[in-house]
Amino acid sequence: MRGGGRGVGVRDGGIQPGKLADRFGRVATDLRVSLTDRCNLRCTYCMPEEGLAWLPKEQQLSDDEVSRLVRIAVERLGVTEVRFTGGEPLIRRGLVEIVRAAAALEPRPRLSVTTNGIGLERTAEALRDAGLDRVNVSLDTLDPVRFEALTRRNRHADVLAGLSAAARAGLTPVKINTVLMQDVNDDEAPALLRFALDHGYELRFIEQMPLDAQHQWDRHTMVTAEHILAALAEFDLRPDEVSRGTAPAETWIVPGYKALDGGPARVGVIASVTRPFCGDCDRTRLTADGQIRNCLFATDESDLRALLRSGAPDEAIATSWQNAMLPKRPGHGIDNPAFLQPSRPMSAIGG
Ligand code: SAM
Ligand code: SF4
Repeated sequence: MRGGGRGVGVRDGGIQPGKLADRFGRVATDLRVSLTDRCNLRCTYCMPEEGLAWLPKEQQLSDDEVSRLVRIAVERLGVTEVRFTGGEPLIRRGLVEIVRAAAALEPRPRLSVTTNGIGLERTAEALRDAGLDRVNVSLDTLDPVRFEALTRRNRHADVLAGLSAAARAGLTPVKINTVLMQDVNDDEAPALLRFALDHGYELRFIEQMPLDAQHQWDRHTMVTAEHILAALAEFDLRPDEVSRGTAPAETWIVPGYKALDGGPARVGVIASVTRPFCGDCDRTRLTADGQIRNCLFATDESDLRALLRSGAPDEAIATSWQNAMLPKRPGHGIDNPAFLQPSRPMSAIGG
């Protein structure tokens, strides 16, 4: 694999005007907004079967509060890309209006949603009309029985319908996110790639990370990028000459296949654990209850909700957001014996 070990060196970085910079000179331009911590699935690598407490309603940002923070990020802090996620973002009633407000900003950010696909069949066109550019849909198996075991819900057909609707609505490239797990679905890598290629979807395998609510992740049994690529040997993947930039996925060209736009088909692997890309990270995260996280694996958060609700002007909120990014750590440190899994699970942070 290319890349890997992309480290960062300390710069004498303080706050940079109009930017979300950290001490290492990284600048965040990609905002992940979690719109809810709730979900209509219970994927085993993400949520427990039951018993996860939801955020109380009054702690969650209103649609207007979310839109205001997105505006501040875009207008004052150099954010150019906004991804709505969760939990399951499609269960947020105000999603279409939140997207519409974001699409009206100047400069207009690129807008996408990461979803499990349930309900996308109904909402894809409205989201596109509101200004959404594209979607990532999570799909870990082609087998409805396995899907039910993995997500604890019988909704496989809804996800497939959501994928088709997204493509029809032009929310392209439609990307599929897949997490493989040993002895659960790791035999499906070639079939999932063939499915994606046949439908013109772009598949990305994501290494499983220690972000499950149950804290059951195990470094020794996780399916690594190396394993995934070996499982795809029959496709004779070729290195992708297009630079990866700050994108987390390393991509490969799949010879003999075309993407929907007529270009070469690609497959990606997001090797967050075994080939961390922290040195190039350009993310900042806003949780559904208005906390800024400078990293998926941060153990601290900065409260913008309290500031927002105290009547603070945009400028003070922007400065607080900049301050929240400064102490971002150089790397997630998963392999460090002192690594501490964040207390909030992926579903509450926003994946
Ligand atoms: N519910 C939506 C979905 O499933 O796409 C959005 C939220 S979900 C947390 C975002 C992405 O994170 C999904 O692609 C999911 O597969 C992935 N994910 C969840 N838990 C994960 C974990 N422990 N390791 C790696 N990826 C994970
Ligand atoms: Fe829900 Fe997405 Fe987590 Fe699955 S991965 S439980 S769909 S938030």
